[in-house]
Amino acid sequence: MYQLSKDQVIYAMDPTNPPALTVAPNSRIEFETCDALSGQITSETDQFDALDWNRINPATGPVYVNGAEPGDILSVKIEQIEIADVGITITGKNMGVLGHLFEDTFIKVLPIQQDEAIFSEHIRLPLNKMIGVMGTAPKDTAISCGVPDLHGGNMDCKEIREGATILLPVNVPGGLLALGDLHAVMADGEICVSGLEVAGTVTVTVDVIKGKTLPLPMILTDTHVMALASHEDLDVAVDTAVANMAAYLCEEHGFSKSEAAMLLSLAGDVRICQVVDPKKTIRVELCRRYIA
Ligand code: CA
Repeated sequence: MYQLSKDQVIYAMDPTNPPALTVAPNSRIEFETCDALSGQITSETDQFDALDWNRINPATGPVYVNGAEPGDILSVKIEQIEIADVGITITGKNMGVLGHLFEDTFIKVLPIQQDEAIFSEHIRLPLNKMIGVMGTAPKDTAISCGVPDLHGGNMDCKEIREGATILLPVNVPGGLLALGDLHAVMADGEICVSGLEVAGTVTVTVDVIKGKTLPLPMILTDTHVMALASHEDLDVAVDTAVANMAAYLCEEHGFSKSEAAMLLSLAGDVRICQVVDPKKTIRVELCRRYIA
């Protein structure tokens, strides 16, 4: 198995990034990841104002996959997510949906014990370990790791979890896959800008799919197929994710447009991934039994 350390990070998905690792298709890779603040906050008394903003949203990588050519699809199967035993969450002035309520910044450090995060004496949250940032290099521009778009990036989608396969576009030779920003716990919306941010280790199997056109990014789980879209305007993100899923049903499964629309109206859940990043992310989930 290949390994990448958390020292090999990027802060933008960039076609000019040199590969940190080169692998063959169908390789297993272990990515060690920093938390979204590069570990700069470790206690509730740390000074948020002292943060080095050049070290926010690191992603480990990038990985060059031999044989991956523009137009191919990178398939990333998440085998395992291991996390540290403590996570942090932050909110404050102008941060997220409720940022107007605050004048200060608030940091909460949550111990993680026995598959639960300890929020308070009476509130223990079951873990839903997920990967906030996963993407490939865009074709001819750099995109900050804090921004989600067609290449993936900071989608902050809680379905990017163990067992899921993420399908991403290959825009440049090798694809240049990078990932990071693990969350131990996060709800749809991520309303205060942070999940339970945590360092950890992710094991994936990366493969290349050739000769196929899909509306990317997509997620495949044992039970569902999902189309994702990100945009500054949540309405546009909804429309795009729905249109992507409809196109997938028509092109891959032979539905007419009207049948696809009606099936999605009856069985396609439109869900919010996050509403706090520079672009907001929507996913449409459809149970695989309808297209098996
Ligand atoms: Ca994030």
